[in-house]
Parts: sequence; C-alpha cells; structure tokens
Amino acid sequence: MASIQQAMQKQQAWNGHVRGSNKVCEVAIFPIFDAEKKLAGFSAISRDVTSEYNRTEMLEQEAKEDFLIRIDNRRTFFSLAEPQLKKAFAQQESVAVLMLDIDFFKRVNDTYGHAGGDEVLKEFAALVKKLVRKKDLFGRYGGEEFVLLVTGMSVAAVLAFAERIRERVEKMSVCHDNCTITLTTSIGVSFVQASAQIMLEELIDRADQALYTAKKEGRNRVVLWKKAQQDPVSG
Ligand code: GH3
Ligand code: MG
Ligand code: MG
Repeated sequence: MASIQQAMQKQQAWNGHVRGSNKVCEVAIFPIFDAEKKLAGFSAISRDVTSEYNRTEMLEQEAKEDFLIRIDNRRTFFSLAEPQLKKAFAQQESVAVLMLDIDFFKRVNDTYGHAGGDEVLKEFAALVKKLVRKKDLFGRYGGEEFVLLVTGMSVAAVLAFAERIRERVEKMSVCHDNCTITLTTSIGVSFVQASAQIMLEELIDRADQALYTAKKEGRNRVVLWKKAQQDPVSG
C-alpha cells in the first residue's frame, strides 16, 4: 500500500480499493488538521464493495469466454493468438492451426433438440480442452466450429495430435434425456515453419480450406492443407 503511505506522508487525502483475502473495500482517508493547520490525525470512510467487485469480474470473464461452452470466444482467441503467433515465429517455432467442425451437427439438434445439441457442444469442448497442452489456444470460432493454435510441434506431431482428437471424439458418447448421442468431427490443419512469417488470418483460412476438403471427402477425418488442394494428405 505504498500509495497510501505516500499520501499520508504528504498529508493528502487518499481513495482507492483495498483488497483483503475475501473482501474488497472502497476506502477514502482524509487528513485532519488542527486550528494551527498542523496534522492532528486521519479519518477514514470504508464501504464494502465485494459483491459489486465480484460481479464486475464475472462480467469481464463472460465477455472473454463463450457463455455456453466456457472456453475462449472468437474475439478472445484472436487477441491471444496474434501475439502467440508472433512470439512463436520470433523463437523460431513452427505454428499450426486446427479448425474442428462437428459433423452433421444439425442432425443432433433435429434429433435431440437444441438442449441436446448444447450438451454435445459442451462435452466436445471439454474433451478437446482436456487433450490440449497448457500453452495451446483453444476457442469457439462460431456455432459448432472450434479453433486451436499450437506452436513448436513438428507437422507429424500436429497430425498425430489432430488424429488423437478425432479418435477420442469418435469414441465419446454424450448422455442427454436418457439418450446416448455419438458424434464425429472433421479437422482441417494448416502448418508452417517459423520462416513462413504468415498472418494468422491466412493460417486460419488454409485450415478452413482443409476442413472443407475433409467434409467433401466424407467427414470424420483430418486433412492437412497443401498448396495444391487437389492432393491433400488425409489421416
Ligand atoms: P457438416 O457436417 O457439414 O458440418 O454439417 P452440420 O450439420 O454440422 O453443419 P451446418 O452448418 O449445416 O449446421 C450447423 C448447425 O449448428 C446449425 C445451427 O443451428 C447449429 N448451432 C450453431 N450454434 C449452436 C449452439 O450454440 N447450440 C446448438 N444447439 N446448435 C447450434
Ligand atoms: Mg458441422
Ligand atoms: Mg460448421
């Protein structure tokens, strides 16, 4: 609380927030002067603002996270991915983007209702979150589409990782209203070495093109973007 000390030394008023272990207070401290204008003491007013503070923190968190899925939303993903990409290139690390899209998700909604679809989205995201490394960035791109940024992995490792996600999704089942819902995912992958120095949007666009190919080729597969999309590598 250096700022309080400084204000007291200068015999000035201070106001601000004081945080305890489970309480936050808004505090104002005023110097009191006697008739000779000498400092006679201080008076303080304190107001408990813990609940307002918690609510603001919660709202800030909600603005960053997807409300349903509780992972980074698209905006947060972009704001974190841009610097991560630059950092990786600066450290001579490779970068890969994985675009994951649940196959025939509309059918899930049509068969089990929107609530069933929501449950699938939540469990899908929870599973992928469990499989990614701490430094990977995972976000909801929109609807039933998710995006993952991984750095410092070889192309073979990235494809094996994507394949592991695909397999685990294929094996998972979601319980909803006494029904068991199964699902599959298609994954488009773009990969570059540090020397490529390309923009995040371009990497995402390439992963999206590979995802499109994966869908066209029958879904439930991993496809790596290649310059000539006529000859993609399927896994
Ligand atoms: P494809 O295999 O080609 O990806 O087919 P799809 O049915 O998965 O794709 P399509 O884009 O036709 O449908 C996606 C559906 O996802 C349509 C939309 O109503 C649904 N959806 C988007 N966001 C949500 C959500 O938050 N909750 C639920 N339950 N459904 C959502
Ligand atoms: Mg889909
Ligand atoms: Mg989609």
